[in-house]
Amino acid sequence: MTTRSNSLAQADLATALHPYTDARAHEQRGPLIIERGEGVRVFDSEGRDYIEAMSGLWSVALGFSEERLVKAATAQMEKLPYYHSFTHKAHEPSIRLGEKLVEMAPEGLTRVFFTNSGSEANDTVIKMVWFMNNALGRPKKKKFLARTKGYHGITIASGSLTGLPNNHRDFDLPAIPVVHLTCPHHYRFGHEGESEQDFAKRLIAEAEETILREDPDTIAAFIGEPLMGAGGVMPPPEGYWDGIAALCKKYDILLVADEVINGFGRLGTTFGCQKYGFTPDILVTSKQLTSSYLPLAAILFSEKVYDAIADNTHTIGTFGHGYTATGHPVATAVGLENLAIIEERDLVGNAARMGERLQEGLAILKDHPLVGEVRGEGLIAGVELVADKAKKTPFDPIGKVGTRAFEIGHEEGLIIRNAGDTLALCPPLIVTEEDVDAILARLTRIIDRTWEWVQAEGLK
Ligand code: PMP
Repeated sequence: MTTRSNSLAQADLATALHPYTDARAHEQRGPLIIERGEGVRVFDSEGRDYIEAMSGLWSVALGFSEERLVKAATAQMEKLPYYHSFTHKAHEPSIRLGEKLVEMAPEGLTRVFFTNSGSEANDTVIKMVWFMNNALGRPKKKKFLARTKGYHGITIASGSLTGLPNNHRDFDLPAIPVVHLTCPHHYRFGHEGESEQDFAKRLIAEAEETILREDPDTIAAFIGEPLMGAGGVMPPPEGYWDGIAALCKKYDILLVADEVINGFGRLGTTFGCQKYGFTPDILVTSKQLTSSYLPLAAILFSEKVYDAIADNTHTIGTFGHGYTATGHPVATAVGLENLAIIEERDLVGNAARMGERLQEGLAILKDHPLVGEVRGEGLIAGVELVADKAKKTPFDPIGKVGTRAFEIGHEEGLIIRNAGDTLALCPPLIVTEEDVDAILARLTRIIDRTWEWVQAEGLK
């Protein structure tokens, strides 16, 4: 270790509490300090390079060295580094980005509100929906439907929508009225012998029973990721979204698509809802919106939601909500340039083409003795490792083997992520055929080495 990276590591250990990191384990291992990026690769402080097959946190669409984003940020910094949009103020970058997003969005999503993160965006959605129903004089209509294993953020309210025990148990959540429905993942939650279509029908029936039991007049919205990401990369079963969209219509429930991961090409379509053929009333984006070069999220919503908030017939005041950095000029300027590049280079098309190559390559791993399921769509994939392939038995404890594979990944020069024992891949939209092939080769070595370790440890 160089003196410089050693002193950086010491300073990190002396001061930081890392998100989503076992603090005591971190004290033993120390940080992996990432110093610079180039295309789909990042380099650590020791000069080792890694293919970043997770795009950071599912987010760096354009890779780690897009000069045009740097220039867009610099130019805006020089012109107007900050202004807000409270009390009738506006500035060009946020106006132009709003206009661009509406142009790209599925039909009917004609309004935009900006926040700084996906969590804040989902908090804002909750508040918009509550405000809307108060404004419409139906104050009882406040509950959200979400799904177990769904990920919608970590603030008090968005963390309540998230359906993962770790985000709830020790934080005293949920703190808002939310009902979690069964996770639409056929491999894990389908009954023995149940087809995908029958599984989807059962989940839709469960959703309807829940709505009737709770009383439709109390259910405000259904929120879901079109393809579930952070909970373990789970595409929906066929027919699922059709059924959910129909129920929302029937019971006057707003349908919210959380596209924080899916949005802007991840699945090989501009938005995930387009892949699965439904149109939400509210669509939440972030991450790939700026390739995460700066923090930004955008909520797209319908004129119906806008009008209720704008008219605010039954509420006492204006929409008292917004952040200091709502629509931040530098972040929105970067977002605008980022979306222009995605269009110019047809990166949605590239995601579809490279996604096909990735999914085909991964399908070969289905025969590996350690692999229970390979799943995904476009440039997002999950490989679930299991103790017993025939019985789909998970490892006990869940996550130990996945974490080992994640660590071996670093040794093999591939940054992946494990959701329990599911290894996730989500490479930048700019990947080439050579990159995809290198990812596949490295992942295969990781799984082979993990398999050897599992056997040596007597875990199988
Ligand atoms: N929604 C989804 C679908 C996400 O994947 C995430 C982050 N992984 C969030 C919301 C929260 O976004 P943030 O981390 O920016 O708060």
